[in-house]
Amino acid sequence: MSKKGIEIVNLDTEELIRKLNQALSEEWLAYYQYWIGAKVLEGPMRGEVEKELEVHANQELNHATMVAGRIIQLDGTPVLNPENWFKLAHCAYEAPEDSYIKNVLTQNLNGERCALETYNNLLKFTNGKDFATYDMALFILKEELEHEQEIEDWLTDLERKK
Ligand code: FE
Ligand code: FE
Repeated sequence: MSKKGIEIVNLDTEELIRKLNQALSEEWLAYYQYWIGAKVLEGPMRGEVEKELEVHANQELNHATMVAGRIIQLDGTPVLNPENWFKLAHCAYEAPEDSYIKNVLTQNLNGERCALETYNNLLKFTNGKDFATYDMALFILKEELEHEQEIEDWLTDLERKK
């Protein structure tokens, strides 16, 4: 527990920890969605996109590591049971039952757009009140923006191939 570190946070820390556990649950679901999507992917551009989906998956895992670390600094408990991921997450997990590349990418795009909402809300909540969480959320938001852009570009290229 970081006593001074918590004291300088000028907001409802319980509410903040709740929001961070929401983000943490979403990151794990995003990690798995990318990871399994890369495994089952079929269609044009498979080889190239598969590798990039693995990169995204690892970045989501890194986001989870960062968010869990911040929860612990705030003297909170990161979600301990995966059963709670679905209860806490606001973003949907979309199983890639149709493994065609366009479907997998569209599901990932929905996930990214939801993640952008989560971090945008976290930034608004912490702005000027908790600089450490703000800084972390901004770093993550910028990576989610890159993810959204890359997926949009692949979907555009896929359309052009027809
Ligand atoms: Fe993420
Ligand atoms: Fe992402």
